[in-house]
Amino acid sequence: MSSIVLFGPPGAGKGTQAERITDQTGLPQISTGDMLRAAVKAGTETGSLAKTYMDAGQLVPDEVIIDLIKERITHPDAKDGVMFDGFPRTIPQAEALATITEVSHVIAIEVPDERIVERICGRYSCAGCGSVFHDTFNPVAAEGCDCGEWQEKRRADDNEGTVMSRLNAYHEQTSPLAEWYESAGIFHRIDGDRAIDDITGDILAALQ
Ligand code: ADP
Ligand code: ADP
Ligand code: ZN
Repeated sequence: MSSIVLFGPPGAGKGTQAERITDQTGLPQISTGDMLRAAVKAGTETGSLAKTYMDAGQLVPDEVIIDLIKERITHPDAKDGVMFDGFPRTIPQAEALATITEVSHVIAIEVPDERIVERICGRYSCAGCGSVFHDTFNPVAAEGCDCGEWQEKRRADDNEGTVMSRLNAYHEQTSPLAEWYESAGIFHRIDGDRAIDDITGDILAALQ
């Protein structure tokens, strides 16, 4: 089994692309951000620990993330590979991942910092199905989401206050992973500052 990593700064479009690539490849999406938000909502111990970091725009400790992944990867849908969205985000997470599953492609969605604030502050999603939208760049249809259970949801951490610390965390703790994966010859850079469909096309081509 072989897996894909979607890599990039907060708001780069990882979730947006994951939704489309899952449709094409059948690989299930594993988003550590979604898993943490579910834990916060469920009021688990992990959730309450994670929340203090998420609210501050900081990374949740590696041990917490690695435990979540180790458990998730045992689910039957993960047996033929998965698509990681927002994981790994540190060198220790990447080292742990290497012992858990083989990674065949790391897809880096590149978006300049100055675009990130507008992307994150305009983001919302459908509570029914998780589809991601944007106030300006990708608004939901007037009649609501295709899934028929349209309900607008905004993330507590999607505000200008956290964006700078999230970007800092990305540059300091996550971007060093690029070199790590580049030397392994599995790193693919994609220009993420373009139309959503064009980016999807390039990602699918890189996965061929
Ligand atoms: P990530 O998962 O990397 O944090 P998202 O997929 O949630 O990013 O995208 C962040 C926001 O930017 C969302 O509101 C989304 O609709 C929007 N977005 C995603 N891709 C693009 C794009 N290529 N151009 C403009 N806006 C985009
Ligand atoms: P985005 O890509 O838009 O920043 P995510 O949903 O991936 O959003 O992550 C939201 C928050 O959850 C992060 O700011 C961080 O606090 C936490 N988080 C998610 N994934 C990880 C991870 N792999 N390692 C550490 N913290 C994480
Ligand atoms: Zn929906």
